Amino acid sequence: MIDLVKYTKELSNLFSTSENILIISHINPDGDSVGAQLALYHYFKAIGKNASLLAPNNLQEFLKWMNGADEINIFIKDRKKGRMLIDKADLIILLDFNQPGRLGEAEEKVIASRSKKVIIDHHLDPDNFADLIISDPSKCSTSELVHELICAITSDQFMNMPYAEALYVGIITDTGNFEHGSYSSRTFRIVADLLDTGIIKEKIINLIYNNFSSDRIRLQGFALNKRMVVLPEFRTAYIYLSKDDLKEYNHVKGDTEGFVNMPLSIKGIDFSALFIEKDDFIKLSFRSKGKFPSNEFASLYFSGGGHRNASGGEFTDTLENTITYFIKVLKENVWRFEDQL
Ligand code: 5GP
Ligand code: MN
Repeated sequence: MIDLVKYTKELSNLFSTSENILIISHINPDGDSVGAQLALYHYFKAIGKNASLLAPNNLQEFLKWMNGADEINIFIKDRKKGRMLIDKADLIILLDFNQPGRLGEAEEKVIASRSKKVIIDHHLDPDNFADLIISDPSKCSTSELVHELICAITSDQFMNMPYAEALYVGIITDTGNFEHGSYSSRTFRIVADLLDTGIIKEKIINLIYNNFSSDRIRLQGFALNKRMVVLPEFRTAYIYLSKDDLKEYNHVKGDTEGFVNMPLSIKGIDFSALFIEKDDFIKLSFRSKGKFPSNEFASLYFSGGGHRNASGGEFTDTLENTITYFIKVLKENVWRFEDQL
């Protein structure tokens, strides 16, 4: 856990001395990134600060209903406006990521900008590309960290309904609705305060989780039935999907979200991988239970990273060769499971 007080003064100074604040989420923005972004936006709005919003690429459907989501400028949709916002900003807040590459096409412009930059994030080992880095991997979500910081700055609890709704989305999506991740008793105290504003959790959960197309559900059935391989001797299971598989089920962005978690519910499986064939590389997602450091595995073999129990990477080869390589390096890492055997 980090000492928030250490950052409060500096952050508070940056907030009060900045006229144009730009809040940026990461590429393929998830619920936590957008939740933290919109929570900050509602906070600035409430205190009369001018804040703009930018995401490197499109939001997925299940986040578009959020209050303020239509104010998020999409860099790849309107690069001119995106560049203008970066130019105009005197403070840029970067949320839920710690490597500049996660800015997608906006990376060059943001990094070159002379404005002050603050990273607020909960991933391990941030790269140094900001004036102030507030990184706390003990938090279940960047949304939780944003709330803690705002509480520290206001020395009271700031709260309103759209702010609470945004934070709630961030917390439930990053913890899989309180199934995994580093949530704590403190998280539940925060959630209690969020619910006290009158936000309707059933409505939010419905909008986030019960929002699938029939094609997506059928793809899930296909993936589990025909594309999952279980390797009990390695406490591992993986799912692979080719471009043709995805095409057959009219795949749209986000459809495979969550697939990687499913094999972990098999008894005796502590590590799960998802291989998705892209145009010129294979995208990998990893999930683990317990001590297996999936992020180390991702960074050692698949140019990736992330959290211990949720990470990802890439490999430039065919789907078949990637899987063969995965099994080879998995064998070399079986000792890492020893603690839980
Ligand atoms: P997901 O499997 O949901 O796409 O990603 C889970 C987590 O793994 C993300 O929050 C991110 O921290 C990390 N991650 C996924 N893909 C990559 C990657 O290609 N590189 C790095 N460094 N981290 C990744
Ligand atoms: Mn997050």
